[in-house]
Amino acid sequence: MSECIFCKIIAGTIPARKVFEDDHLVVIEDISPVAPVHLLIIPRKHVVNVLDLESADDGLIGHVHRIAARIAREKGVAESGFRIVTNNNAGAGQSVFHIHFHLLAGRQLGWPPG
Ligand code: AMP
Ligand code: ZN
Repeated sequence: MSECIFCKIIAGTIPARKVFEDDHLVVIEDISPVAPVHLLIIPRKHVVNVLDLESADDGLIGHVHRIAARIAREKGVAESGFRIVTNNNAGAGQSVFHIHFHLLAGRQLGWPPG
């Protein structure tokens, strides 16, 4: 965990553009955005990905989605559409092994995703 880039962002030892934080998570701007709105919702708890979740995390995952909805409304993209994405393991594109939720919006999002 000491080498985890998102743990370092949460600890404040690596800078990031934070747009929201509370006791459970931080929300930052993605350093390499792929949409006009590209935020990362990052639980403070170091969980590797969905495979690493425990029943004790159920409330956290609900909270993540409630915050995502709030931010989507604040950004004005709730009605036009937004996507919440979690990549799990390398074949799905996970590059940072600390669970996070991409909030993507601001352009037409293709389906199926690449
Ligand atoms: P994933 O590939 O699904 O694991 O997503 C990791 C995301 O973290 C990518 O979209 C990266 O652009 C983003 N990222 C990596 N390092 C940083 C950083 N220091 N600050 C903000 N976003 C980052
Ligand atoms: Zn971490």
